[in-house]
Amino acid sequence: MTAQLLDGKAISAELRNQVKDRVDARLQAGRRAPGLVVVLVGDNPASQVYVRNKQNACQQVGFKSELLRLPAGTSQEELLAVVDELNARDDVDGILVQLPLPEQIDEDTVTERISPHKDVDGFHPYNIGRLVLRQPLLRPCTPKGVMTMLAHTGIDLVGKDAVIIGQSNIVGRPMFLELLMARCTVTVCHSKTKDLAGKVRGADIVVAAVGVPRFVKADWVKPGAIVIDVGINRLEDGSLCGDVDTDAVGEVASWITPVPGGVGPMTVATLLENTLLAADLRDRAG
Ligand code: NAD
Repeated sequence: MTAQLLDGKAISAELRNQVKDRVDARLQAGRRAPGLVVVLVGDNPASQVYVRNKQNACQQVGFKSELLRLPAGTSQEELLAVVDELNARDDVDGILVQLPLPEQIDEDTVTERISPHKDVDGFHPYNIGRLVLRQPLLRPCTPKGVMTMLAHTGIDLVGKDAVIIGQSNIVGRPMFLELLMARCTVTVCHSKTKDLAGKVRGADIVVAAVGVPRFVKADWVKPGAIVIDVGINRLEDGSLCGDVDTDAVGEVASWITPVPGGVGPMTVATLLENTLLAADLRDRAG
């Protein structure tokens, strides 16, 4: 592979250390540790892994973290009542309701019930709206983590042509807003896009968030492009792979993210960053 690896493990470790230093400084100044509560409804195996990673990360940086496990049969009203309680608690800075939720619960209703000031996932319409208006506060973790990785390349993003594949609310759309705010010219592609390969060929920056193993091929990628692979796909043999044909694309791109060890760890570290920001903002608001 000739591309340089954008090492999400190393960059996220650096970010976590920065968060830890700031938590230590808060404690030394007599302020409390930031508090994150993760709510897990049901027993989705992937969600359990994600939640465990988030809990461990919180402990490493000195946050006060709590896991609330609710049964799969929890009703929407019951979950909303839990969210209301957490919204009212002074020791809770961040609330994360792990998605997906069981089918009897409407995810949008729950997302909107979380106080925007404690919405450390950055999914609340208030926080998305602030991002649209270029006044971001709590930003969706995965796209923000990608921006941190892009900063590590040292490449000036202004005026670059970026193509995002995928238009989901949690990745593709906020990624569009982040790259636009960084003054890239951004094209968002999706399942109905015509001539996808042609659009990707024009891009200086490619972000793949499709959910299809090794979807992005080497002959779609402009030589020297930066390729960010958000995809996490589990193959039949149990191994993980991304949405990019990494070995082949790595011969064409200038920078590439591995899977695992790329965007995934950045998402978790950015959640910590958001929770610390939420705590700081709440302190400032008094
Ligand atoms: P999603 O299923 O909500 O969205 C997928 C998008 O891909 C859709 O907008 C769809 O239009 C588009 N798409 C599907 N087939 C396509 C095609 N043939 N051509 C062009 N576009 C096509 O998925 P998501 O929640 O955005 O997640 C995408 C991937 O990223 C998944 O693998 C997911 O596991 C992963 N993910 C990773 C992280 C992380 O922290 N690294 C976070 C969130 C999601």
